Amino acid sequence: MKIIDIRPIIIRMPFAKAGLPAFAPAPSLIIIVEVTTDEGITGIGQSFTTLSSNSAATLAKCIETMIKPKVVGKDPLAISGLWNELFYAFYSVGRSGITIAAMSGLEIALWDIKGKALNTPVYQLLGGCAHDKISAFASLSQFNTPAEAAKAAEFAAKQGFTALKLHLGDVETLAAVRKAVGDKFDVMVDLTANCRWDPATAVRKGLEFAQYNPYWYEQAVFPHDDYDGLAFVKTKLNIPLATGEDEYTAVGFRPLIEKRAVDYLQPSIVKIGGILQEKKVFTMAEVANLKVAPNCWSTGPALAATLQVCFSEPAAFIIETPVDLPEAPILTKPFAAMENGYWQLPQSPGLGIEFDEKALAKYIIK
Ligand SMILES: [Mg+2]
Repeated sequence: MKIIDIRPIIIRMPFAKAGLPAFAPAPSLIIIVEVTTDEGITGIGQSFTTLSSNSAATLAKCIETMIKPKVVGKDPLAISGLWNELFYAFYSVGRSGITIAAMSGLEIALWDIKGKALNTPVYQLLGGCAHDKISAFASLSQFNTPAEAAKAAEFAAKQGFTALKLHLGDVETLAAVRKAVGDKFDVMVDLTANCRWDPATAVRKGLEFAQYNPYWYEQAVFPHDDYDGLAFVKTKLNIPLATGEDEYTAVGFRPLIEKRAVDYLQPSIVKIGGILQEKKVFTMAEVANLKVAPNCWSTGPALAATLQVCFSEPAAFIIETPVDLPEAPILTKPFAAMENGYWQLPQSPGLGIEFDEKALAKYIIK
């Protein structure tokens, strides 16, 4: 089998209004990576980008001008060798950032191709089934008021979730949510627009959050690679810390682990380099006796690929699950079933992603 094309597809996706302001956030920008082969099998991946960075077009160019010439004609099943070849080719210009995000989309698509070619879900190729179900936590949006956040939390609880993540910077929102869902619910605290605090502020805020027993306190320190600052914060608080979504490649996790700066490592599959890089973080965490809770802010291929990794990893215990639904269904069927707050073992070959091409077409901007 040979790769004959790789194509970035930029999608601007508004979310459904579900009667709550929190459930109709700003539109999201998603980059799908489509890889086609000479045997008629198409793989679907996803690369990280953000609406605020205007980086989508640059990332698409990276795929078209850097990656495409190196992968067309290559064997899509020789995944780790091809990834390494690209990594060394681009090393001096992009061993993090857009290049690795673009390679993530390619790598995920190659696993999809391999699963489809062998007629099996991807987790079977990554070690096989380690769980029949995995707990999901509802990843909520940002809110205008604590009351809105509390309402959204109640909505998540009604859907069967027993854990949720808030994106906030104020203790009032956490207090309102804790009151709404009770003491048994797990509530993760992530900061608005990601980490923005110096270590001293992070400690002060963490002491406020600690009164409400957060499950973890995520991305407490800015910049994310102030690992000494984060390790300092950890010594001052008795609540678990989590971070890692800003790291590119598994190597990015080394200082976090060596400095024992967090309790939960959070690789993002669309940033870190794809499925195998995320699996390496599980191995590094096992060796260091730390936990992995993959970051996933987007549904679609990003979440489908995260599921496949987690179902193959015995130490996986929770999956971040965005609850904002697109305004129209863009998949012909779910890639896995969710029951009472648990993801069930995926059944379809590959990642199980099947786009409704007609519905999707409305949102494609390139
Ligand atoms: Mg985060």
